[in-house]
Amino acid sequence: MRIAVLRETLGGERRVALVPTTIATLKKAGFEFVVESGAGAGCFLSDSDYQNAGATVVVDRGELLRDADVVVKVQPPTVEEAGSLREGAVLVSTMQPLANLEVVRVLMSKNVTTFSMDLVPRISRAQSMDALSSQATASGYKAVLIAAASLPKFFPMLTTAAGTIFAAKVLVLGAGVAGLQAIATARRLGAMVSAYDVRPAVKEQIESLGAKFLQFDPGERDTEDKGGYAKALSAEAQQRQQKWLEDQIAGFDVVITTALIPGKPAPRLITRETVERMRPGSVIVDLAAEAGGNCEITQAGKTIEHNHVTVHGPVNLPSTMAVHASQMYSRNVSGLITTLVKDGKVQIDLSDDVIRGALVTHQGEVMHEATRAAMAEAPNHK
Ligand code: NAD
Repeated sequence: MRIAVLRETLGGERRVALVPTTIATLKKAGFEFVVESGAGAGCFLSDSDYQNAGATVVVDRGELLRDADVVVKVQPPTVEEAGSLREGAVLVSTMQPLANLEVVRVLMSKNVTTFSMDLVPRISRAQSMDALSSQATASGYKAVLIAAASLPKFFPMLTTAAGTIFAAKVLVLGAGVAGLQAIATARRLGAMVSAYDVRPAVKEQIESLGAKFLQFDPGERDTEDKGGYAKALSAEAQQRQQKWLEDQIAGFDVVITTALIPGKPAPRLITRETVERMRPGSVIVDLAAEAGGNCEITQAGKTIEHNHVTVHGPVNLPSTMAVHASQMYSRNVSGLITTLVKDGKVQIDLSDDVIRGALVTHQGEVMHEATRAAMAEAPNHK
């Protein structure tokens, strides 16, 4: 079983799908590894680090892909990358298939069996493969550091000869994986933290991290779906939420927003008027920037000064934490590979919820229902 690790080609992506320590462990189980030269450079792993772990380093990508049984990546492949895979190969990558229909089409036509790390079901058995969680942990942590670095104030309370400094007030909106990590990180830096989520189930988790849970009743009973994700609020409830937040937010120095609804644009939580009511010098870090933003002012990939409030819309924060984000992603990928391979061969057991859930294409068909529906609706969509 030959596993190929590709060098990431997306601009700004520093992560790698498998790190040498994972390779060394998997080698003991009989896997062979070929690594594209420079694949680990973004996270300070040299070709010789990979060679020392027992991998073969290859400069020519065509040669790398020719005999690879399994190809692993971080970012979704481009159409060209998908086209260069060997017929019938297995691809393990973040796929975001709904946003990459043309790539899925190519993978399907090449009979590639594709597993998407972002579709691994979030059940207890698959926790070690949960790349959404591992990478959101990096984002939540980094968001707080960005906020702390651009806030013209201390986070902790300080009692000094030059007077007492009061702790910064931080509000975290959305307390999923990234939000909970943001709460924990802001607490470690000594801030006074409050948090809110549309799912009341997270109240206890917020409080156990030493933050205050802000109560708001959206007037809708069912705010959580079967998978534990938030459901979109009605337009009326969303408006009431925005109005309530407008009054809350004015009292905070920092707002970190992480609210997402799977498969939908990010919910709008902070209006322009709300930003304009914040104290000058306040900071917003909008982790939902790539999904349209939780804040009306946010622009993905940019930092905007609006009315003396700094609004950050960072993209791909895990890449800025490439060393640890890769280490964690690598463990996630290794978990999936070891689940897939039985007796030295990839075995696609469609009765296994984890395998079935993460499968996007197999034997020339699209196996992920929502993607299949989207492709049927937009047969020529690129
Ligand atoms: P996510 O990234 O989809 O969303 C982030 C947060 O935004 C969620 O907590 C969501 O409730 C919140 N949100 C959405 N709309 C909002 C609004 N209008 N106002 C305020 N908050 C809003 O979520 P995630 O972090 O990927 O995961 C969240 C869920 O997945 C949780 O239930 C978590 O427990 C579950 N999960 C389970 C496992 C497992 O192994 N069982 C692993 C990871 C995550």
